[in-house]
Amino acid sequence: MTERSIELRVKRQTGPDAEPYWQTFRIPWRPQHNVVSALMEIRLHPVTAEGERVPPPAWEASCLEEVCGSCAMLVNGRARMACTALVDKLDQPITLAPMTKFPVVRDLIVDRRRMFRALQQIEGWIPIDGTYDLGPGPRISPERQEFMYRLDQCITCGCCLEVCPQVSQEGGFIGAAAIAQALLFNLHPTGEMNKDERLDALMGPGGIADCGNAQNCVEACPKDIPLTHAIGEIGRQTTGKWLRDIFFR
Ligand code: SF4
Repeated sequence: MTERSIELRVKRQTGPDAEPYWQTFRIPWRPQHNVVSALMEIRLHPVTAEGERVPPPAWEASCLEEVCGSCAMLVNGRARMACTALVDKLDQPITLAPMTKFPVVRDLIVDRRRMFRALQQIEGWIPIDGTYDLGPGPRISPERQEFMYRLDQCITCGCCLEVCPQVSQEGGFIGAAAIAQALLFNLHPTGEMNKDERLDALMGPGGIADCGNAQNCVEACPKDIPLTHAIGEIGRQTTGKWLRDIFFR
């Protein structure tokens, strides 16, 4: 009896400027395999389906429970987290490729620094002075806390950027993730003090006006973050600021 196996086609690239190529691997089937555990299996025995011993594919992973965001890749052409992509639910051969909106570092690893630069751009933090006791902070209603928690679950995976037609490697649109984080910090009573700076950043080049309303982001987000709601709300806030800037300056 032939052993049941899993076939994976992996897009390889030895470095940022190298030509990409594909390699096929076959590993024994095991129950509950996900894409990350399948890649681990290949790493143990990096031999292609043709029998050639090759360097094992490089990929990123850390938490293995959809929290760190590092294993995002294209699995059968779809941007998703490899750790929660269950092999038994995927058509074979399973194709694995790096996301296309980020520069490739090696094989399945991409450079997602643009997302962290976007967070810097929108001042995605709350400035606090921890050198003395400020007393209890302002109260936040449970409803607002609940909504903010949904926004706070962003894992900076980049899936929303990958599926957005307005995002390209060359620059352009800042993307839905940073816009949702701007809303998160604007909703915080202390973070609200820097609301205008965040809105200014989003009213500039690559900001909210570049959103084409494709709404792919909300479909692709593994954390179900209400991205289109966030974009709509930030659109409302930037319009308000634009009017204030015209009439009250
Ligand atoms: Fe990933 Fe969702 Fe955050 Fe976008 S908003 S980076 S898809 S978790």
